[in-house]
Amino acid sequence: MRGSGKQAITGLITNIQRYSLQDGPGIRTTVFFKGCPLDCWWCHNPEGLSRRREVVTIANRCQQCGECIKACPEGVAQPGSSPAGSVCVRCGACIGACPTGARQFAGMTMTVDDVLWEIDRDRIFHDDSSGGVTFSGGEPLLQPEFLLALLHGCRHSGVRTAVDTCGFVNESTLLEVAAHADLILFDVKLLDDSKHRKFTGVSNAVILANLRRLCGRHPEVWLRVPVIPTVNDSPEDLEDMARFAASLSGIRQVSLLPYHRTGIQKFERLGREYRLPAIIPPSAAEMKAAADCFQAHGLKVKVGG
Ligand code: SF4
Ligand code: SF4
Repeated sequence: MRGSGKQAITGLITNIQRYSLQDGPGIRTTVFFKGCPLDCWWCHNPEGLSRRREVVTIANRCQQCGECIKACPEGVAQPGSSPAGSVCVRCGACIGACPTGARQFAGMTMTVDDVLWEIDRDRIFHDDSSGGVTFSGGEPLLQPEFLLALLHGCRHSGVRTAVDTCGFVNESTLLEVAAHADLILFDVKLLDDSKHRKFTGVSNAVILANLRRLCGRHPEVWLRVPVIPTVNDSPEDLEDMARFAASLSGIRQVSLLPYHRTGIQKFERLGREYRLPAIIPPSAAEMKAAADCFQAHGLKVKVGG
């Protein structure tokens, strides 16, 4: 599988996950792009937030040997903790010096062909399960040239594609990407703009406008709503979101994504504050009630990605 003559284009990704049953139909290969314009309090993938490579430290692997301190030319490395992005120059000296692998880079640069080769390894699973590849993040549309080259390469090879977007992106880029993707997973967190600004850092005006424009122009749009206790899970919030989804033409499925706490440890590794209080993930019964709310509006609903 080749990238349509654009093999030299590179992108920054955090991970490629194989054999995933999330984020689209069948068995999927999910490519996580690095960099996101939102800053959601509940993010379970915070290593994808920054648009730059960064140093992370796995605290329980640290043996306090102090080699990172000796190696750091900036004098900012600390045993067992990640350096702040504002002072670390990402030279990697501490990573090379660390004998336990406690320090690592989050983010790697890959060419289009590198990624297409990884996707190609899973072709048999895609073909047997009606699966494919999902470009997720982070926000894949922040690297449009890289994303479009990957979409072209996949289409050329007959691999079905999904793009997972937060929607806070340039409209023309979104429509161009959508024209080359088989499925769009479109995330909407909150309809109340003041709450959206508080919990994600940006207004939802562009996001909602983009979703309205996309619906009706793309045959397969799935709306994805994270269900975050105390943030957007009140009966009123869910009813408003269900009404909004039902008002759009072309939403083929609503995926309700239950909040989980896997992001907490990742925020710690990155040396960042986790801002949500100790909330409890929604129960199966609560997720069923949320799904019932959407189904009552005639929507096809799935709990989970
Ligand atoms: S990457 Fe370089 S500057 Fe950053 S903490 Fe490690 S040694 Fe210091
Ligand atoms: S070099 Fe690695 S193991 Fe040693 S103190 Fe630094 S982070 Fe810990």
